[in-house]
Amino acid sequence: MANFDVLITAHISEQGVRILEESGDINVDIKADINAEDLKQIIGNYDAVITRSGTTVTEDLLENPGKLKIIGRAGVGLDNVDIEAASKKGIIVMNAPTGNTLAATELTMGMMLAAVRKIPAANNSVKHKEWNRKKFMGIQLYGRTLGIVGLGRIGGNVAIRSKSFGMKVVAFDPYIKKSRAEGLGVTLCESLDEVLEQADVITFHTPLTDETKNMITKEHIDKMKDDVVIVNCARGGIVNEDDLYDSVKSGKVFSAAVDVFMNEPLGDHKLLELDNIFVTPHIGANTSEGQRDVAILICEQIDNALHGRSYENAVNIPFMKSQLSIEMQKYFEMIEHMGHLVAQVIKGRVEKIEVTMVGSKFEEDFFERTFDIPFNYQPFTVAALRGYLEHSVRETVSYINASFIAKDRNIDVVETRTSSYGKFNDLLVIKATTDKEEKVVGGTVFPDGLGRVVVFDEFYLDMVSEGTYIYFKNHDKPGIVGRVGTVLGEHSINIAGFELSRMKGGMAVSFVSVDNEVSNEALKDLIDVDGIVEAKVVKF
Ligand code: NAD
Repeated sequence: MANFDVLITAHISEQGVRILEESGDINVDIKADINAEDLKQIIGNYDAVITRSGTTVTEDLLENPGKLKIIGRAGVGLDNVDIEAASKKGIIVMNAPTGNTLAATELTMGMMLAAVRKIPAANNSVKHKEWNRKKFMGIQLYGRTLGIVGLGRIGGNVAIRSKSFGMKVVAFDPYIKKSRAEGLGVTLCESLDEVLEQADVITFHTPLTDETKNMITKEHIDKMKDDVVIVNCARGGIVNEDDLYDSVKSGKVFSAAVDVFMNEPLGDHKLLELDNIFVTPHIGANTSEGQRDVAILICEQIDNALHGRSYENAVNIPFMKSQLSIEMQKYFEMIEHMGHLVAQVIKGRVEKIEVTMVGSKFEEDFFERTFDIPFNYQPFTVAALRGYLEHSVRETVSYINASFIAKDRNIDVVETRTSSYGKFNDLLVIKATTDKEEKVVGGTVFPDGLGRVVVFDEFYLDMVSEGTYIYFKNHDKPGIVGRVGTVLGEHSINIAGFELSRMKGGMAVSFVSVDNEVSNEALKDLIDVDGIVEAKVVKF
């Protein structure tokens, strides 16, 4: 009996499909090359859909997502998937980024060699019965400088291979650690210009993002050495096609090799006019090994995700809670509780949520930031947002969509780190700002493994974030606590614990842990107690 339905909208390797079929409870439908309209009609009947570049997943397609939980891309590129739209619907988007790394790396090496030795043109010439050796004077790679933009998986593998050709390799990638470049024997440059100015051959290996689109225009090409060679096997649009055409035509660029284009298929394009531009039809991933490996990877991931096992390469979940240490999982749960607390006591419309990670425990990023999603926070910030937003948002708030919902609501989300906070060394703090007030809540995890709220505005507390509390704020004067006890007694509410913090002679805050539901009448009677300025129910 099939528990899950998976739709595959492309031709993928049989070895991948078999993984799903053999799982026992997954029904697999293959509708390769289905059109968008038909897909929209049926997409909601599936738990997961596996696509390739032929299927564009738009916001419209996901309008009624039904039971769809996962979109899997059998490959790397996700520029044809509206990740933001999927995230808002709580749909996991995953890809198979490692399956075709070597295929794309090897194509890049081939394109580089083709471009410096004009191999495709020489081939054509001989096939046209010419024998013109002078025309095909090339450039030697040995001793030249290769500039790599984007030193990720493919960029790194291109670096390794190019070094074996005797090339010096420099790279620009502002998001990787220096140690990665050092490990590859690559000089990491501080700016793109530094690479442009010194490289003889420049190859691009970044995703297509707002930052990398038109990363290379005429202005950049002018900064490059004369007779530079440009290779783009990453994504169309990183190198501006019109400007590339002009610079190859003018002779500034010796030659260019391009596998990827702004609009594919390419059709009748002016890049095809020039002998020194070598093109291939987006075949970077096209090796039988590459295709097999991406299909296996995406199908394994989907099988695992559907069955609640851990999986990799979800691009819109910036982290997996289970990958945090046990201690950090407690902090993670703690800050989500703190988000609940802030949401339940704050007045006004929230404008800004600031999460501060205090202490050496939080110095490093817990997960590498991925670049396919625009709102990329550390897990604690996402948990804080989720806790907070759950009280004000109608739709289900998940770790996937929390930061997108915050953005939609124009909430300014800020993530900071500091070494200490008041008397605390290890602390997570949420500061929320609304049009009416600012609220600060700090929490930590004690050695007993229990998370406790220890900061509430200017007050220090020691409150376990579990169960139901009545929070109230009052002037610090005699008789109030006794009166509160009486009111709660009158409403048959049993007090389980009492946490009070005060500024002597000023204000005091209390969190009364209670065993029973608190009615509106009980709350109203509390607010009526002389000296109490506000009272609310807080549930964790
Ligand atoms: P990756 O995520 O491992 O590496 C991308 C690197 O780009 C990262 O290190 C990232 O820090 C860096 N980066 C992001 N923004 C940058 C910026 N503004 N400036 C400089 N560096 C930046 O990805 P990958 O697997 O190496 O893939 C690289 C590219 O190759 C992707 O665009 C992918 O879609 C493409 N690709 C193409 C084919 C093909 O068929 N031609 C096949 C596979 C991959």
